[in-house]
Amino acid sequence: PACRCAMTRPDLDDFATLSIHAGEEASAPSLAPDICVSTSFAVDPDAVGFSATDLTDSAPYFYTRWANPTVHQLERKLAALDGGEDAVCFGSGMAAIAGLLLGTLSAGDHLVISNVAYAGTAELVHDTLPRLGIAVSPVDTSDLEAVAAAIRPNTRLIYAETPANPILRLSDIAALTGLARDAGCKLAVDSTLATPVATRPLALGADYVIHSLTKYACGHGGDALGGVVVGAAEAMAALRQGPLIHFGGVLSPFHAWIILRSLHTLELRMAGHQRGALAVADFLAGHKRVSRVLYPGHSSHPQHALARRQMANFSGMVSFVAKDGAEDGAALARTIAERIRVFAYAVSMGKSKSLIYHIPTDDLQRTSFRMTGADLAHYRDWAGDGVFRLSIGLESPEALVADLDRALS
Ligand code: PLP
Repeated sequence: PACRCAMTRPDLDDFATLSIHAGEEASAPSLAPDICVSTSFAVDPDAVGFSATDLTDSAPYFYTRWANPTVHQLERKLAALDGGEDAVCFGSGMAAIAGLLLGTLSAGDHLVISNVAYAGTAELVHDTLPRLGIAVSPVDTSDLEAVAAAIRPNTRLIYAETPANPILRLSDIAALTGLARDAGCKLAVDSTLATPVATRPLALGADYVIHSLTKYACGHGGDALGGVVVGAAEAMAALRQGPLIHFGGVLSPFHAWIILRSLHTLELRMAGHQRGALAVADFLAGHKRVSRVLYPGHSSHPQHALARRQMANFSGMVSFVAKDGAEDGAALARTIAERIRVFAYAVSMGKSKSLIYHIPTDDLQRTSFRMTGADLAHYRDWAGDGVFRLSIGLESPEALVADLDRALS
């Protein structure tokens, strides 16, 4: 298509059909969308200006850092899956998060943010925002009173990650929406671990949804980095013009194409991840070396009722705390890494291959979360001295349980 507005969303509303059809266009007779790798496009001299400030929805494709036909198809699909008016893709989840925070907050503004969030997000808000004059209050966003108490007259944004990496604590999106509305500020939700199969934050009142597309959206072998923000058309236009075009963290068309294709199977894959995760959580809950299992879909999760209300799929992330014993966490991590045959000892999540990684509390607190007092004590209640974070892949539940049994025996 010649123009960014040329693609329409099909008149479909069930997830499986949308995930296959929404946003895509192929040049006949192809059925698969084309990959358009061109960085610039021949244009009518009167159709578009030279500056990003002149970019309108009806502008033709002009330069790939502004908009690209393949990336645009992915943006339309992601907007449809999350029920948003529009979406802006970035080169990684962190580029999307940084783009949203730096694009919507200014010196003198205040941010209330989940004190448990992806480590990169935590480090960005601790180190970069205050330097720019943006005040930050990290709070437990699962505690609505704490959120209400943190809100100030200059609070512009509440930011929650749910489930929160790595302890899988949940935040009640509908309740946070109420607080944001009362305070006259916006609500952003990093829904990477949930995916739109499980949760649609915009339908619950959030203003922005963020996903690292590197995780479940891409899935498979984990072969593309990407990120997205979904929300209202006007807000997305502002995000495109400032953070995307001027910061320049754009998604490669090739990675967009991989993620576009991967989304066809998202719902099926999430069902498989959940099946394996339930079996693994059940196995770990009964294991003598495990003191605590954290899985929103397991009845032992302290917020299982909220999970049932807010998540149509409990996703594939399971964390566990090992019982104090002769081996400390690091030694147990080495033992597990040596013994596993099905799991890989690696970071990231959402791939077809299962992953396990040990995250020591002291290290994470020192580098990223930096909690003190009651917040730190509360974190230790959940995570002890550290969690083993498992991203359950699509292998058979029996193979996964057998692999963990061997590794922990
Ligand atoms: N959000 C969450 C919840 C994550 O877990 C991650 C990475 O692990 C990110 C964002 C960052 O995504 P990316 O690695 O694509 O930059």
